[in-house]
Amino acid sequence: MIDFNRPTLTGKEAHYMYQAVYNGKLSGNGMFTKRCQAWFEERYGFRKCLLTTSGTDALEMCAMLCDLQPGDEVIIPSYTFVSTALAFLREGAKVVFADSMKRNPNLDAETIEALITPRTKVIVPVHYAGVACDMDAIMAIANKHHLLVVEDAAQAIDSYYRSPVTGKPLPLGAIGHLSAFSFHETKNITAGGEGGLLVVNDERFIRRAEIIWEKGTNRAEFFRGEVNKYGWVDMGSSFLPSEVNAAFLWAQLENIDAIQHKRKYIWETYQKRLKPLADKGCFTLPDIPDYATNNAHMFYLVLPTLEARTALIKYLKENGVGAVFHYLSLHSSEFYKSRHDGRQLPECDRYADCLVRLPLFYDLTIEQVNTICDLIKTYYQ
Ligand SMILES: *Cc1c(COP(=O)(O)O)cnc(C)c1O
Repeated sequence: MIDFNRPTLTGKEAHYMYQAVYNGKLSGNGMFTKRCQAWFEERYGFRKCLLTTSGTDALEMCAMLCDLQPGDEVIIPSYTFVSTALAFLREGAKVVFADSMKRNPNLDAETIEALITPRTKVIVPVHYAGVACDMDAIMAIANKHHLLVVEDAAQAIDSYYRSPVTGKPLPLGAIGHLSAFSFHETKNITAGGEGGLLVVNDERFIRRAEIIWEKGTNRAEFFRGEVNKYGWVDMGSSFLPSEVNAAFLWAQLENIDAIQHKRKYIWETYQKRLKPLADKGCFTLPDIPDYATNNAHMFYLVLPTLEARTALIKYLKENGVGAVFHYLSLHSSEFYKSRHDGRQLPECDRYADCLVRLPLFYDLTIEQVNTICDLIKTYYQ
């Protein structure tokens, strides 16, 4: 059986976790946490980084920082994970779902302006499969209407947006006012199963982000010696991961280039070997616009119909390959459908019905990739 996913392991994880255990400090914001945060700030130019216990938590912190009032509206793609929407719904906001593009599952920037009302406060682009949304277009709309942009960069570590205007590659997560990454075991790098990162790019949010992170206290300022006692100053919760998780993550960050190199090699092998079938019209391959880079988070096919996808997944499963579909449209979910305003989101529904993901993980061998491609070729003969 070829699994759909296996968590990345580089070899040093247990060593650093052992070190964290015997350092005598296991709670959050210790040496490994600080090391990881500084690494992200330096490598990607993120203004301020705070490790969190999950990507969901990082999104919840983003939503809290947006300081939403009841009835405020947030524009979110319907083709995303539940957490993207839930983080804002928990803050009392109204979630307004937007459709995906025809060319790929990302938020269609051209549909955003029609959704803006006087109550709109935030746009949340999700970089699906680690491929950039059209950030120049989204930031221009946000600036014009004075909206905040929160990037759901959960899948987008080490991926870039190349602005067609400036030509400069900007790391995903560095463009919006706030961003969230995930280090869940299904992502390119993991903090030992669960983990996340809040990125604050807009200075105005840094102080409050630290307070929310530290359970509503100004403990971070106290530790830096900026105040002589600390206490309860705002809302907050327990968002810090333990040092054991940060130590695990550190081992992965040290090896990120090797991890990315291997994932890209797998991705490109799929692309090369499946292109002839795509050219024949059996399915379409992942779309990477000129303004985006590929971080090889995911390799997916989009089939012509739900029936075609169901049949392919069944065939691969019978032949020992774990291929899986992905999101169901959030606007028609059991929990949200009665709150949705009834607009049709046909591209989102198409990806929900027709997209299938193939195995892609660090330890996957090229022989296994070839086996999978051969099976798919046989299936279409
Ligand atoms: C994985 C993911 C999340 C949630 O991250 P967790 O770390 O699992 O909480 C949110 N949004 C997107 C787009 C994701 O892929």
